[in-house]
Amino acid sequence: MSKTKKKIKVAFPHMGTISIAWASALRKIGVEPLVPPYTSKRTLSLGTKHSPEAICLPYKLILGNFIEAIENGADYVAMITSPGICRLGEYGNNIKETLSDLGYKANYIELSLYDGFKGLYKFLVELTGRNNPIQIIRTLNIVIRKIFVIDELDTELSYYRAREIKQDEAERNYKKALNLIKGADKTSDLKKARKKALEIIRSTKIDENREVLNVDITGEIFLVNDEFSNQNLERELGRMGVQTRRSLTVSSFLKDAIIPKAFRKKGEETHLQRAERLAKPYLMRDIGGDALECISDVAYADERKIDGIIHISPFTCMPEIMSQNIFPSMREDCDVPILALIMDEQTGRAGYITRLEAFVDLMRRKKRKDRGKLIETQTL
Ligand code: SF4
Repeated sequence: MSKTKKKIKVAFPHMGTISIAWASALRKIGVEPLVPPYTSKRTLSLGTKHSPEAICLPYKLILGNFIEAIENGADYVAMITSPGICRLGEYGNNIKETLSDLGYKANYIELSLYDGFKGLYKFLVELTGRNNPIQIIRTLNIVIRKIFVIDELDTELSYYRAREIKQDEAERNYKKALNLIKGADKTSDLKKARKKALEIIRSTKIDENREVLNVDITGEIFLVNDEFSNQNLERELGRMGVQTRRSLTVSSFLKDAIIPKAFRKKGEETHLQRAERLAKPYLMRDIGGDALECISDVAYADERKIDGIIHISPFTCMPEIMSQNIFPSMREDCDVPILALIMDEQTGRAGYITRLEAFVDLMRRKKRKDRGKLIETQTL
């Protein structure tokens, strides 16, 4: 019998489509990715059962993901952490202790994203036990590219979904497109897959004349990007004829926290740089989480005169409670309609959809009224 060394299986938690990127990174460095079942009601109830009641929703979902990953054979669970002002800095230890108290034997490792490129590099060395700079840089290169492509496909999906003639055709095409990206682990394959993926989404039949509203989505990064925890916010809006744009994306985070400055486009303002520029009159310093970015996103939405902005956050999220309390004072300067949604495991679907419909209705009436005023002024 051949003595082939058993590959260790490593799992990360879900957050939207991020598993495509981390699974690809692990494969490239010779580690077996274990993708836990996509977050479901079972995941949520497992996480909720073993979490402090008042802790934020992402914690409960991450714990649930880890339990399901270990049940499916993960040797390691990898937690993304950051030091800082909000509770994220405490999540790691709590999750580690909880898994051990519950008798789960998997190893626990941490990836501190705020150590930037160096932290990511160190993490891959620790995981594989090999310091092979060429292999690691190639891995990071393909993963970063993949994340940018996925965000590009999300933007494309949003355009087509708001205008599609047959309900859900754009999303079906998007899923096919994502599958192409999943398997492309070389730069040349990824280029071809991207081209094909965009063609597939663009084959969706659309009504070019539909009256479409443009709405930005901001809030706590996990909820903004995770369709389970935001109850598929963007799909619901798309069905109502709304084109969404996420202000907080994984690629925007990478530009600020991971990609070295020398590799960024010259003159391009990153999300954090914009946050520091636009949030200042309302919030003078970082108060943790994504609050600074959220405040600036409202000002940015107003600056571009788009139809509205939705702020989404987990119940008990400290930084986002602060930002929601700053929004009323921003209304003196910003005319953009804002809807603040707070999510937890109790959030019911019917009430949620009603709030979205009412907001869309309000934006549509405002848009028609503003257009009427403009025509009046032009004919005077
Ligand atoms: S930003 Fe909010 S939801 Fe995220 S970890 Fe911090 S307190 Fe929890």
